Amino acid sequence: SPVLVWFRDDHRVGDNPALSAAAASGSRVLCFYVFDEASEGVRPLGGAARWWLHGSLEALNEALQRLGSSLVLFRGPATSVVERIVAGTGASAIYWNRRYGAAEIAIDRTLKQRLAARGIKAQSFNGRLVHEPWEIVNRAGKPFQVFTPYLRAAFARPAAPPLPSPERLAGGAWPASLLAEAVALPDLSLEPAFPDWAVGLRKAWRRGEPAARERLARFLDEGLKGYAERRDRPHLEGTSRLSPHLRFGEVSPRQVWHAVLGAAARDPSLEQDAKKYLSEIAWRDFTHQLLHDHPHLPERPHSSRFEAFPWIEDRQALRAWQKGLTGYPIVDAGMRQLWQTGWMHNRVRMIAGSFLVKHLLADWRRGEAWFWDTLVDADAANNAFSWQWIAGSGPDSAPFHRIFNPVVQGEKFDPGGDYIRAYVPELAGLPPAFIHKPWEAPPAMLRQAGIRLGETYPEPLVPHGPARERALDAFRSLRRLD
Ligand code: FAD
Repeated sequence: SPVLVWFRDDHRVGDNPALSAAAASGSRVLCFYVFDEASEGVRPLGGAARWWLHGSLEALNEALQRLGSSLVLFRGPATSVVERIVAGTGASAIYWNRRYGAAEIAIDRTLKQRLAARGIKAQSFNGRLVHEPWEIVNRAGKPFQVFTPYLRAAFARPAAPPLPSPERLAGGAWPASLLAEAVALPDLSLEPAFPDWAVGLRKAWRRGEPAARERLARFLDEGLKGYAERRDRPHLEGTSRLSPHLRFGEVSPRQVWHAVLGAAARDPSLEQDAKKYLSEIAWRDFTHQLLHDHPHLPERPHSSRFEAFPWIEDRQALRAWQKGLTGYPIVDAGMRQLWQTGWMHNRVRMIAGSFLVKHLLADWRRGEAWFWDTLVDADAANNAFSWQWIAGSGPDSAPFHRIFNPVVQGEKFDPGGDYIRAYVPELAGLPPAFIHKPWEAPPAMLRQAGIRLGETYPEPLVPHGPARERALDAFRSLRRLD
């Protein structure tokens, strides 16, 4: 009887422990994916992630075909779909790589119990993290709540080496009854039809494992040197842009980890940059640990005092932020980069997020939801953790009273204004001294640059000083409740 591999956010054939275990079994290997928006608690993907998923599944199918198998797609609540697949194929075993959200864990647990009762082996593996949530613990055996000691412990623990891709899979035919239930990729309608908002995404990205490998190789050649310094400069290609590939498992964090360690071993001058880069990969593990231990992270403030925060519900302001029309160039450039390419530079994510939460006093969940819908790398753990970090309500967060000044941040990290020129072209004619604060530019300069504030580019939605005071007052009102 065949063995099954259930792919879920691990869309690759290299370093895929579930696939390797199936290949090693010597049995026929049947591979499938379940598009599940029906199970309780499973959050439907946002638009940009759906777009990515389409290309990711297409590439995975091609890779599996090259190995002698293929990817069959199903739709529906995962538990019942998988049970039908197991019964219909007469499989003796099913393999998958673990996920860490509460709803996904519940599905896996139910399935394991039901399949075990029928004598079918369901085996899960770590294909998503360098170290699993329960592997990095303090001396008392408890999970870390703070990143710095977590990182020290993570660096002290060797990462398992990545597995090679299987050379060949003994594929096999699916029973006709199951194939009748299967869906074709276009049936999932993951890509937009009309209006086609994915034009910019297609220009910016190539999806799938081969593209992920190429991006990693290019980053090692061209981007790792100087990463620690360049990573905060949004107008440079100073980061790896591997996030959507990691999100969909087109490359594994262990592959990345070992590739970076290898590069630093060959060239010792890369040591500091490699350390910084690996610490970012460790952040990703850390946020997954937090999601695993605190499953409500995407929905509720981790620190319960924030439940009473006096957020302001202002649809117009939220809309201006989403469209990149706040009147603060660095915020607007970031929001437009996000809309056009499905990705935003990390430094600008922090500035734009802080602006929404602190200057506009919008509930961080509004920002989290917008990012969830528009980011190609939208990830339950990283997104929720980062938003709570900004809001000051998360574990190991920035304190609420640290409020970014968007002008100072822009001048510091985009001193030449190149990032603004790329995404806010209506300000391109301003020199660096004014591009981050067009309202201070002399009228003649604005005229010459073709800018009419309030017409061609908005006035600031809120003035920085009073907005800052208002945010601090709101925060102080929480303390009075304590
Ligand atoms: P690099 O600098 O090349 O880093 C390499 C990898 O390390 C990234 O691909 C990512 O997997 C991981 N990483 C880097 N920074 C962080 C971080 N701060 N936290 C956790 N992991 C990190 N990242 C997501 O993957 N998905 C999200 O939905 C997401 N939402 C965010 C929301 C906000 C408000 C903020 C401030 C950050 C968010 N991040 C998210 C984290 C970070 O911005 C992105 O991971 C990073 O910008 C991706 O670009 P890169 O691959 O070039 O990063």
